[in-house]
Amino acid sequence: MKAAVVAGAKNIEVQDIKKPVSDGKNVIIKTQTVGICGGDIHVWELGDTPTYKGTIMGHEHAGVVVDPGARTDLKAGDRVTTIPVSVGCGVCPACLEHRFDECPNRISGMGLSAAGLPGSYAEYFEADPSLVRKIPDGMTNEEAAMIEPCATPYSVVQDLGIKRGDKVLVFGGGIIGSFSAQWSKYFGADYVAMVEVNEFRGKKNLDDGNIDELFDGKDPELLKKLLKATGGKGFDYVLECTGHGEPLNMAMMASRMYARIAIIGVSVKPVPFNNIVALFKRARLQAYLGYTNAQFDEVMNLIAAKKFDVSRHYSGDCSLENLNTVFEELHSPTSHKVKMMIQFPRD
Ligand SMILES: [Zn+2]
Ligand SMILES: [Zn+2]
Repeated sequence: MKAAVVAGAKNIEVQDIKKPVSDGKNVIIKTQTVGICGGDIHVWELGDTPTYKGTIMGHEHAGVVVDPGARTDLKAGDRVTTIPVSVGCGVCPACLEHRFDECPNRISGMGLSAAGLPGSYAEYFEADPSLVRKIPDGMTNEEAAMIEPCATPYSVVQDLGIKRGDKVLVFGGGIIGSFSAQWSKYFGADYVAMVEVNEFRGKKNLDDGNIDELFDGKDPELLKKLLKATGGKGFDYVLECTGHGEPLNMAMMASRMYARIAIIGVSVKPVPFNNIVALFKRARLQAYLGYTNAQFDEVMNLIAAKKFDVSRHYSGDCSLENLNTVFEELHSPTSHKVKMMIQFPRD
């Protein structure tokens, strides 16, 4: 079968590899639609390192069952998606105390590194039966592929307890920042502001109604304007979705005392941290990664019930063959694309 393999730095190659076969347990899925994740861009950039060279990426997907393996409730042809990054079952004692990495039921993620399970940038992929979910009737492949990136911001906003009356600031208008803002609104936040340097992305969030106000990240008066927007008090919650150091420090300066600051953006390199601001603000920083299986299911149900719209973030399609070009564009700081999907031929 054809698969897109990370062959070097910024280099994905379509290779012919062996098709997965079920061991009687795993479900074999024929790929139809796969979302390109911001995390995939990091893997692609670092494609010459031992961690990533040889990775078959892809963890936001929709496809059809070829072999249901141990899942007696599934049959060939059923449309499915999978929970790709199981950081915890959500119900064991470790998970209930938010120590997801100590979960005994944890299954390693797919498509994230060369050593992990292969992902869905391939004609077929396999998944642990416990992580396969039937796509609800009426849900498109594109919506199903969007559950995964939507579930992380959902878990963050839920864990922070954002509610009516709160003032929320989001740094970054990519897919995670956009969903973070949208969930904050969903849970009733009074005022959601966003800081973006990419004018198109920022404006799209404003036009889509994810935010109340947009601030230009390059504005030298940014801090003054952010504080003014909260009547000088500072924000109750700040969600840092860029992975850069300056926004994290700006997040602490623009927040109120004892504000909760969520670190969601990814950086593979260390970032500068303004210690003294953190001290004076008694900043309560919390980093987030992933979600529980139950949260994935909750997001799926909200999208299926048309209570939460993900379609606005879908920017277009591509194929396995032109990924390097698409990744170059997504990597560009001025890109107009938010979520691109790889479409596979149907038969
Ligand atoms: Zn992702
Ligand atoms: Zn668990």
